[in-house]
Amino acid sequence: LPAEFDATANCLQDKIILVTGAGDGIGRAAALSFASHGATVVLLGRTIEKLEAVYDEIEAAGHPQAAIYPLHLRGASQHDYEELAATIEREFGRLDGLLHNASVLGQRRSLAQTTQDSWEEVLHVNLTAQFMLTQALLPMLATAEHGSLLFTSSSVGRQGRAFWGAYSVSKFGTEAMMQILADEEFELNGTRVNSINPGATNTTMRRTAYPGENPANNPDPEAIMPLYLYLMSDASRTVNGQQFDAQPK
Ligand code: NDP
Repeated sequence: LPAEFDATANCLQDKIILVTGAGDGIGRAAALSFASHGATVVLLGRTIEKLEAVYDEIEAAGHPQAAIYPLHLRGASQHDYEELAATIEREFGRLDGLLHNASVLGQRRSLAQTTQDSWEEVLHVNLTAQFMLTQALLPMLATAEHGSLLFTSSSVGRQGRAFWGAYSVSKFGTEAMMQILADEEFELNGTRVNSINPGATNTTMRRTAYPGENPANNPDPEAIMPLYLYLMSDASRTVNGQQFDAQPK
């Protein structure tokens, strides 16, 4: 995060930003943070009650009214993604930012022990669904003045590690997708594409992955939001193809 970046209250004013997995953890914090900096946020996720709770929080705080879009990334078809794109186009006429955040952890065991079902679920939700969603929304991002496409990686998306299996492979794939799209889109239409490794953050996923850890030793999702705000705001409009870390390594 550049030292000179200061997230002003209106740094995302008038932006339309879609966040996947917006009902919990880092996605929830990102949705609330984007809204509190002026964005209209489209809350996408699989558990409607969680999305409604975030919607209500945004409303109670007096931020721009959000929109809820329930979608289960495991089963969604190309038609579902096209319908989502058509709905955003109809309701807002535009999309300025897309944060790919939803992920599943899958089995924490060796590749030798990983079941094909779990492998396929993780690769589908964490990678294939991102491809499909990106493909459906790219045309709208391309027409935004400074479109921002942001992927969520992990330290095991940059270095493989025992027992991280399909999740690690999906995050390596995510980094590849980021680099390819950065190379394809930015020059063509100005859409910048980057990735964030959040680092150890106190969420359900982290607590599941590290049951023996004291959750309070990791920062809450709110603490890592400045980087997310930077990458969605026009301050980063010339930044493309970069891998960011939200916390010191
Ligand atoms: P959480 O498990 O807390 O939240 C994940 C979100 O994704 C939830 O809202 C969940 O919905 C949603 N989601 C999962 N599967 C689907 C699906 N099939 N369809 C729609 N939505 C789905 O995880 P985090 O907030 O910790 O993780 C956010 C991102 O950060 C992930 O990409 C993760 O890999 C990455 N990350 C997190 C780290 C950490 O320490 N927390 C470290 C490194 C990377 P629901 O709540 O309804 O289940």
